Amino acid sequence: MSLDETLQTELQHLKQQSLYRQRKISAGPQAVHAYHNGQKVLSFCSNDYLGLANHPDIAKALKQGIDEYGVGSGAAHLVSGHSRAHHELEEALAEYTGRSRALLFSTGYMANLGIVNALMNKGDIVFQDKLNHASMIDAALLSVSLSGSQLKRYPHNDLPRLEQQLKDANIADQTRKLVMSDAVFSMDGDLAKVSQLSQLCQQNDAWLMLDDAHGFGVLGKTGAGTAEEYALDQQQLPIYMATLGKAMGVFGAFVAGSDALIETLIQKSRAYIYTTAMPPALAKATLMSLKIAQEQSWRRDKLQQLIKQFRAGASQLGLSLMDSATPIQPILIGDNEQALMMSQKLQQQGFLVTAIRPPTVPKGTARLRVTLCAEHDEQDVEQLLAALEKMQKS
Ligand SMILES: *Cc1c(COP(=O)(O)O)cnc(C)c1O
Repeated sequence: MSLDETLQTELQHLKQQSLYRQRKISAGPQAVHAYHNGQKVLSFCSNDYLGLANHPDIAKALKQGIDEYGVGSGAAHLVSGHSRAHHELEEALAEYTGRSRALLFSTGYMANLGIVNALMNKGDIVFQDKLNHASMIDAALLSVSLSGSQLKRYPHNDLPRLEQQLKDANIADQTRKLVMSDAVFSMDGDLAKVSQLSQLCQQNDAWLMLDDAHGFGVLGKTGAGTAEEYALDQQQLPIYMATLGKAMGVFGAFVAGSDALIETLIQKSRAYIYTTAMPPALAKATLMSLKIAQEQSWRRDKLQQLIKQFRAGASQLGLSLMDSATPIQPILIGDNEQALMMSQKLQQQGFLVTAIRPPTVPKGTARLRVTLCAEHDEQDVEQLLAALEKMQKS
């Protein structure tokens, strides 16, 4: 069969299982009141939790960054692409997260590839929660083939099982052990048992890495994320990773930790070394974003109110919520086709809520992933709840 014949058959198969994915074309900036495919919609599906993706001060900082640095960085960080703007942002991120140093990566996906690749050698073992984000799974699989390390997965938040796996691994004491977990699970909204994870790792000579893509900016008194929320210092959580394209509203990612960790990443992370540095103007914009996220704690307070309101309303309707205290508030549906149909029905009424299906989530757990944003107001949530109620009755 030709390339096209082969692929068409495969695509047809995805459609039959309600697993085909389609992009919506948006016009104008990211906002809770947005335009998609020409229709005005109320969006409950972005990761722009603090509502900063179109903040005027951040946009202004980006424009000033372009005036100062132009558009492209022109090269990788280790060649000539590492600007003062990048460097200042790294220093600000280290200070914000209470770590010795921080290192910028172009995306969160690449940061995760870079961490495992720099730290794991032949025979070393990466331990991961089964519900971890695909980028961490891919990172470990890539390292299996690049360096001959191993990947072991444990059932979601099952720490006794992880403990057993760590103990089994302790037989050879030269083996490096890296435990990786989402801090806030991206499709469920629940949290890792971070304090117990930290203890378990310290007791078993394992290194703990948390991916705080959905906690940074949202959790902690000043928005410094899960490490701040649970008061985990650099000793207790040696590898802290978070992204800058979600709550921070810009783009990119970073890893924060000790001087030795950051130097090792600079020397050895292929996903850091062999790629062009992000545009310096983005770093300028992100510096402004950090400042706003840190200072405007009303955004986090507002989110907490909206979360409470949504959960109370949704449970009154008898909807199947998940164990989440974060702005990620999925409604469990189960069947792919039904989840897709409900998402389409909501969209007809002007609400954007994505249906999340396998392989992003386990089979039989398709869901509507509702996310809340500090720019939503009480009425927006009321309207969504009313639309969900109407759909139940129809
Ligand atoms: C979004 C996300 C990433 C990827 O970050 P990007 O900057 O979008 O590449 C990594 N980990 C988790 C948990 C995420 O949710």
